[in-house]
Amino acid sequence: RRAEQLANRALPPETRDGVRISLQANAGLLVDLDQLEESGAEGVGLYRTEVPFMVQERFPDAATQTELYARALDMAGERPVTFRTLDIGGDKALPYWSGTKDENPAMGWRAIRIGLDRPAMLRQQLRALLAAGAGRHLRLMFPMVSEVNELMQARALLDMELARHLARGAEPPTRLEVGVMLEVPALIWQLPALFARADFVSVGSNDLFQFLFAIDRGNPRLARRYDSLSPPILTLLRFLAAEADSHGVPLSVCGEMAGHPLEALALIGCGIRILSMPPSHVASVRSTVRSLKLGSLQEYVTYLSGLPNRSVRQHLRAYAGDHGI
Ligand code: PEP
Ligand code: MG
Repeated sequence: RRAEQLANRALPPETRDGVRISLQANAGLLVDLDQLEESGAEGVGLYRTEVPFMVQERFPDAATQTELYARALDMAGERPVTFRTLDIGGDKALPYWSGTKDENPAMGWRAIRIGLDRPAMLRQQLRALLAAGAGRHLRLMFPMVSEVNELMQARALLDMELARHLARGAEPPTRLEVGVMLEVPALIWQLPALFARADFVSVGSNDLFQFLFAIDRGNPRLARRYDSLSPPILTLLRFLAAEADSHGVPLSVCGEMAGHPLEALALIGCGIRILSMPPSHVASVRSTVRSLKLGSLQEYVTYLSGLPNRSVRQHLRAYAGDHGI
């Protein structure tokens, strides 16, 4: 099976009717990047920068951060890495940083909210990312953005750091792309303004669905109550993919869902063309991609998105079975 996967990794993730899907890896610790080559992923679609922070004993200074990001870029080689700025708070605590005791941590002081309220912290991270990305392709992404204005504020901090970087005579990135995680439903009604200002958008389905259904993503009692393979989710994803397409902005999905073959099938049927997942899941999603026909899938997913069912998982499973996927 391993031999088969290694052989498969050289095959393009292309549907039977010739549509290319980009398969990317999610990473946090450097060990995840070790698996990049073997996984056959095209790049790192989500590098969760808070993960290395969570295993440190104190808040890493700019030099430590620069070294870490430079190593990540080195390990990825030619493959682009999408660095997400710190997403602390919520379910991700730093042992040496108390933050606030929010009653609803997922909806509390976290991620970009902390970054904008404590700009010195965000600027330090941006400075380290620019230092590591000097002379290289650099992709940055902000988590938990709920208003386009937050992207603009974060971008202004980035511009200040970039000016400072250049004033010191350092090399600029060869290419700098700035993206946003779509995880807060409010952003869905600001898409034209968002797509005009973001170089790319990545759907964080874990948080987005938690807020859409008002279910705690970490509560096992609720885990089976709602299904991500449901008409409202498919309808939303089809809308997002179409809007991104009409604005010419790349849209990916980097939540848990993207790494499961049946969910990946649904996402592709919704019009999503970039999926980011744990490196160990890339091989099986690649097989799914290579066995599907987009034309018929898209039609079927459109039909499913209009059903009154709570879940369309069985329908999709039957479709996959009938179509040799
Ligand atoms: C998400 O919310 O879907 C996501 C990818 O971010 P995280 O799981 O790190 O919150
Ligand atoms: Mg998230």
